[in-house]
Amino acid sequence: MNERPTSTPASSSATSAEQVLLRADQLTKHYPVSQGWFRPKAISRALDGVSFTLAAGKTLAVVGESGCGKSTLARQITMIESPTAGALWLDGKNVAERDPALLKAVRPLVQMVFQNPDASLNPRKKVAAMLEEPLIINTRLNGAERMEKAKEMMKQVGLRPEFYGRYPHMFSGGQRQRIAIARALMLDPKVIVADEPVSALDVSIQAQVLNLLMDIQQKTKVAYLFISHNLSVVEHIADEVIVMYLGKVVEHGSKADTFSRPLHPYTRALLASTPRIDPAQRQARLMLDGELPSPLAPPPGCAFHSRCPHAVERCRHETPLLQHFKGSRVACHRVSEIA
Ligand code: SF4
Repeated sequence: MNERPTSTPASSSATSAEQVLLRADQLTKHYPVSQGWFRPKAISRALDGVSFTLAAGKTLAVVGESGCGKSTLARQITMIESPTAGALWLDGKNVAERDPALLKAVRPLVQMVFQNPDASLNPRKKVAAMLEEPLIINTRLNGAERMEKAKEMMKQVGLRPEFYGRYPHMFSGGQRQRIAIARALMLDPKVIVADEPVSALDVSIQAQVLNLLMDIQQKTKVAYLFISHNLSVVEHIADEVIVMYLGKVVEHGSKADTFSRPLHPYTRALLASTPRIDPAQRQARLMLDGELPSPLAPPPGCAFHSRCPHAVERCRHETPLLQHFKGSRVACHRVSEIA
């Protein structure tokens, strides 16, 4: 028998026993976009009411096509930008209020690992300088203490401390990403936002870097917000998965549920396009027609209706809410029929 969706509050990635580090409440980011002279600015709804929690030692993966809002979400979490609306609680403090003193105090708690280490590491600086820089800015450690901490961090990420005085180009791609991870860890952050951290690496190196991230998490209990378009990578590392479409969450569930029983037609389409070795895990082929619509003019009703094979008239004018269904949260009017 089909389970009816319920409209209970947003689910949490953290149980009450777990320490919630990060809580996004209806986080929203709209950008005004110029349309030329004498025309009013358009609004790009890059992030539209996103809610979730992230606990210590857990990994929440965010997946979706380019333009779905993943990177905008990362910029809010890392406090590079301020949200248009909503709240962002970091370690119990609402950083969306943009209090300068508060931001200064909590910024070190969230660090970022970028996709491409070649772009994120300064080629003119030695590893020593890059690793010590956050300590110089944020701590009162003296030179010897900084060097000791930096060398210790190099060991933790699998690099030889004697390479401390080398430049980034003297390392391989995988080693450069290890340097970037070491730099992100220098201030003992509680949350790391990893934006496609292995997609620029050779496949043979990807697993090594993912395993390194998981080892670090086990030791330090750091939480990861892991942004990726590669579902195979997400399946390796995530505890929970958020699927985003045009700035909104359309499905949020445990990794096991999302991969074994995807509920939203968009999640199914993403999984169907991911190569799987195990035939039992292959999803029925569901091809997506067309491109992601522009966030400047999202379709009315369910934003996915123009590409959804299950769309009915209701989908064209009524926006589905994110509701609990079979242990996940799903935004689809027809989930109880098609799940
Ligand atoms: Fe498809 Fe309608 Fe569900 Fe949107 S609400 S995903 S259009 S069935």
